[in-house]
Amino acid sequence: MATKKVEIVVSPKPAHFVGDGFRVHNFIPGVQGLDMKRMDPFIMLDYNSKFHFNGTDNPRGVGVHPHRGFETVTIAYHGKVQHHDSAGGGGIIGEGDVQWMTAAKGVLHKEYHETEWAKEGGIFQMVQLWVNLPSVYKMSCPKYQSIKNSDMEKVDLGENGYIELIAGTYKDQKGPAFTFSPVNMMNAKLKKGGKAEFDFPANFNTAALIIEGNIIINGEEKASTDHLVLFKNEGETFTVEATEDSVVLLISGMPLDEPIYPHGPFVMNSKEEIMQAFEDYNLGRFGYLAD
Ligand code: MN
Repeated sequence: MATKKVEIVVSPKPAHFVGDGFRVHNFIPGVQGLDMKRMDPFIMLDYNSKFHFNGTDNPRGVGVHPHRGFETVTIAYHGKVQHHDSAGGGGIIGEGDVQWMTAAKGVLHKEYHETEWAKEGGIFQMVQLWVNLPSVYKMSCPKYQSIKNSDMEKVDLGENGYIELIAGTYKDQKGPAFTFSPVNMMNAKLKKGGKAEFDFPANFNTAALIIEGNIIINGEEKASTDHLVLFKNEGETFTVEATEDSVVLLISGMPLDEPIYPHGPFVMNSKEEIMQAFEDYNLGRFGYLAD
């Protein structure tokens, strides 16, 4: 086993709003080489760093919009998100929960702050990732996985803290999310001075987003809150040590190694498939969802 070294530590870009409810730093695609191909199958990462929203009776968010060809994964660290889609899926993503929506052949959905949470307002912190689908599954039926925090496998690391597994494996334990290609996704919740070891295949595209705290990787590379660490595609193992109480989101996935043809909310394998997506959308083939 060789050490997986850090390729680059990426600072957050200035934040922008998605709708009026999500104030995000975009990390994927496009920042400092983090394009869709490099991060495959992670084709988009928007990070809403801690931000205070005032209370309102009109929940903020994003109105009805389509997706096709991939999955959207929403991880709520602070605040609550309410969600509905045209396939009948929906619900509330509470603090610590994850919503894993497989758009596949197409859904319309909308994402808002949860009504009661919005009334009070407060600190909001969230990640939205888009996970690409292998071409054979891009036109499969939409699917929705509501993963409560209590459903996640917790791997106890004693006084170091614990690993909260969303998808894939950590030391032979398995996360609850069903995935269409090999994907590891987990939160390392480490106490000050706590340490965890990770082991992912060398060719998997691997990154760590520091949600809270400060860490040192492999005993040499520092990374602080709201930064993203991209690992090299060589070596398998690395260590994360927390220099204060920390939360780190780790993602590691097998590259699909297929053509990626993105256009707005659709990510397919060719231009023809994108044109088909627009046609299907315009003909109402994504179903119906009220505003
Ligand atoms: Mn969406």
